[in-house]
This record gives sequence, structure tokens and C-alpha cells, in this order.
Amino acid sequence: MLEQQTKQLRIRLYARLSKDDGDADKESNSIINQLELGRRWCKENNAIIVKEYVDDGYSGTNFDRPNLQLMMDDIQDDQTSGGIWVKDMSRFGRNNAIVMYYVEEILPKLNTTFIALNDNIDTRYDDGNELMPFKSIINEYYARDTSKKIRSVKLNQALQGKFIGSQAPYGYERSPDDKHVLIIDYDVHRVVKKVYSLAYRGKSAHWIARYLHRANLLKPEAYRYHKKGWTMEQLHEKYKYPTYWTSNAVRRMLTNQVYIGHTVAHKQQTKSFKSKKLVDNPKEQWIIVENTHERIIDDETFELIQKFVSIKKRTTKKGKTGLFTGIVKCPDCGASLGSTGIDTKRKRRARLRCVSYVRNTTFCTSHGILYDSLYQIVLDNIKSRISHMESLGDDFTDEIRRLSEANWSSQSQNFDKELANLNKRVKEIDTMIIRLFEQNTLGKISDERFDQMTAAYEDEQAQIKLRLNEIQEELANNEKQVEEAQQYLAIISKYENVTTLTREMLCELIESIHVYDAVGKGKDRTQKVKVNFRFLNKVSL
Ligand SMILES: [Zn+2]
Repeated sequence: MLEQQTKQLRIRLYARLSKDDGDADKESNSIINQLELGRRWCKENNAIIVKEYVDDGYSGTNFDRPNLQLMMDDIQDDQTSGGIWVKDMSRFGRNNAIVMYYVEEILPKLNTTFIALNDNIDTRYDDGNELMPFKSIINEYYARDTSKKIRSVKLNQALQGKFIGSQAPYGYERSPDDKHVLIIDYDVHRVVKKVYSLAYRGKSAHWIARYLHRANLLKPEAYRYHKKGWTMEQLHEKYKYPTYWTSNAVRRMLTNQVYIGHTVAHKQQTKSFKSKKLVDNPKEQWIIVENTHERIIDDETFELIQKFVSIKKRTTKKGKTGLFTGIVKCPDCGASLGSTGIDTKRKRRARLRCVSYVRNTTFCTSHGILYDSLYQIVLDNIKSRISHMESLGDDFTDEIRRLSEANWSSQSQNFDKELANLNKRVKEIDTMIIRLFEQNTLGKISDERFDQMTAAYEDEQAQIKLRLNEIQEELANNEKQVEEAQQYLAIISKYENVTTLTREMLCELIESIHVYDAVGKGKDRTQKVKVNFRFLNKVSL
């Protein structure tokens, strides 16, 4: 042992460069630079350079590079232990499975250390090596990303939950200690809270924007300049109305997960390397890292608001009909029921109608209902449900517990089985890819065949990963249901002696209200209204 430690490490330097490495790192990735760094490292670490290997003009995705192969042959022939040095992992290769196969399988068998300078990887020591699979994945991601605009550094930072945007979102500022960390901006965090509480009470984005304007609050862009020391005069010069908030700005604030403590990155990307134009990425491609900084808004408020925020709301002059916005639905076409408002001139009372019908009378039927009638029906419904639950007393609580637990255990057992099977399959595929790789390097199967087969296995793995995600989501959902049941009990007791409806109450208790078309005329006219409560529709009550 002691002898080995004091022995000088015998190093083979490996350098690679290709056109697909992009221009950004051209200088630092040049062959000369790579070798220079390697020689300096060896000098500083008292290592001997056995040989230098260079593949100039070869892509990192392909491992069939003459000097990489020569180096591997040399190592196999060499009876003495030694090491490979590269500037970073991507120099060695950009295919995750194969790089990992080399580093974890082939090289240890050949008593060969792997050193990647910029990634802090040195397989002689454990420190930092646990990150290696992770870095290797990033290298692969980078290679696959055709636009090459997402630099691995940025992606890496995003995956770690670091804030990488150019401007801190309104309500936050960058920490003076670390610009990648957000801290609450206590000068305006109350405004964020106010915006959320107004939305919670059913106010539209448009209404809130007007409110902020009247309250003389600077809009986010103007506020940023104000923070940098601009005077009001300067702000008025730049923006005609620095306090003029748009409803879009409000909507953006109401949907941004940054306010519940999560960091969201990769929401947009440049269209192509030719165009600098930003396009929105689908939500599945967002990188969301939870709990990276202090939250301003609680989860429950945030989630409730997401249900309504996308709906365009209009509050009537009396500010009354916003109560049901987004909650009342047409059971025939699925659209919302919109309010007509109150027409005092024609002495018409406010009523709600299917918005498809309002747009075009051939699309649906009216589903018309008087606002006041609906109000009374919903209020009665809530009252009777609460009193019914109270009469059930402990039985009710037990029923909820029984239902949620039964549901939970039978389902999660099935999931456990499926999870075990899927994980087993993932391992099998890993083994098969490694075997394919082995056979390919030994020349037993052609490169073409190798590519085909690995691609097929990778597809299967991707499918499995999707299913694994689904299962995890469902498991989380189950847990949520149990939690919700408990929440519901707490909410119910809050509205024990309810006499008027409030927006907050509707949001908390009700998922949707379905208004059916009226049947019959005059005295025989009946209309069905179905109130769907948010929790526990399965509970037989
Ligand atoms: Zn309809």
C-alpha cells in the first residue's frame, strides 16, 4: 500500500476536439490548451506522462476514435498500473452509458485511474466521484441538444436549484452572498401577498392590475429601476405610467412557482442557433427544483388559484357576480357559465348562461339560471352537507379514515409490485447495453447493429422512466388524499354557522357546480343543479 502511494502515477493524456463542441469554448478546448493543462497537472502532482493521445475532429458521441482505441490497446498491453487524464469528462465521451461503462467497469479492471480535471474527478479518491454519473448525463444531454444553446454549466446550475435568470422575480432579490440564491425583498413582498389574497377572493387579474395602479405601486420593471436608484421623474420619462400594471403581469405572478419556494428553469429557450428569439418550452421540459428559497405564498392558496387564474374574469360594476366565476360549469359542453350582470334599466336580474351558447346559440343550449336562485341553492347545499356531517359525528371521521386508508394500502401494494418489476427491467437493460458494448468493442457485432440495438433499449428505458414517474405521482396523490380528508374536517368546522357565501368558502369547499337545462314550463319548470364538493365525493352521504 505504502509503496503504491509513494510511487509516481503514470499518466496517459487524452485530448479531443470536434466541430460539434461549439464556438463558446473553442479557446479553452483547443488541443494545445488541453495538453498544456494536462502537462501542468502532471508536473504539479508529480506524475509521469507515459504518452499523449489526440483525436482531432472526432465527435464525443462516437467512441470509434483511432487514438482512443490505441490508448485502450496500450493500457491493455501495459502490465503496470496507471491513469488516464482528460480536461473534462466530455473530452472522453458524450454518451453516458458508454462513459460510465469505461469508468466503472473497464478501467478498474485494468488498474487504471480516471482523472477529469474540471469535473473534479479522480477515481483514486472518493470525493466528488458520486457526482460522476450525473455529470456524464449532462454531457450526453449537451450533445443531444441540437441547438447547443444550453450550456452544461447553466443546466447543471438549474438542476441544483440555483437561480439562473437575469432578473430576480418581483418580491425577491438576489442574495448579496450568492447571486444564484433568492431572498425575499421585504420592501414589496406584501404586494405579492396582497395580489394572491385578492385572487383568492375571486378578483380577476384585470381587477387586481387596476387596484395596484390605483394604489400607486410601481410595476415590476419600473420597480427594478427604482431599486437601482432612479427617481420618479426618471421613471416617468422612461415609462409614461410606471404604475400601470397589465393583467398579464398579474397573471404571471399568480402562476409563478417561485412564490412557493421552488426554482423553475428552462421555461424558454432560443428557437435555433440562427434565431435569438425565445420560445416557450412545454411544461414537461421545465426544470423545477423544490424548496430552494423562502416562500411567500402557502401551497393551498397557490393551488386553488391555479384553477381559476387562466379563466378570464369579469367583475360586474357591483362587483358581485365574480363569486361563481370558474366554478359553475355547463355539463353538456364543459364550458363555464358566464354572468350577464345586472341591467337596472331593463329591470333584468343577473343570470348565468353557458358561454358557448352566448357565443353562438347553435353551439349549446342556454342553461340559464338566475344568479339569486343559484346563490340560494348552493348555500342550502353547503348548509345541509355540513349539518349532515355533524350529525354523523365520529362515524363520519371514521368513514373518511377507513376510505382513505383502504384505498391507500391496496393501491400502494399494486404499485410496489409494479415498481419492483420496472426496476428489475431497468437493471436488465443496463446489463444488456454493457454486453452489447462489449461485443461491439470485440468486433462481434457491427456498429450499425450496435446503434440499432442500443437505441431500442434506450427507448424502452425511456418508456419505463415515464411509467416510474407516473407511479410516483399517483403515490404522492394518494398521500395527498389522506391529507385532504383531514384538511376537509378542519374546513367544515370553520363554516358551521354559515349564512352567506363568500368566494373563499366556495374555493375551499367546491370543485365545480353543474347547472343543467331547465325542463318544463311555468309552474312545472324544474332545473337540476349539482354541487360537486372538493373532497370525498366517494363518501356516501
Ligand atoms: Zn354548454
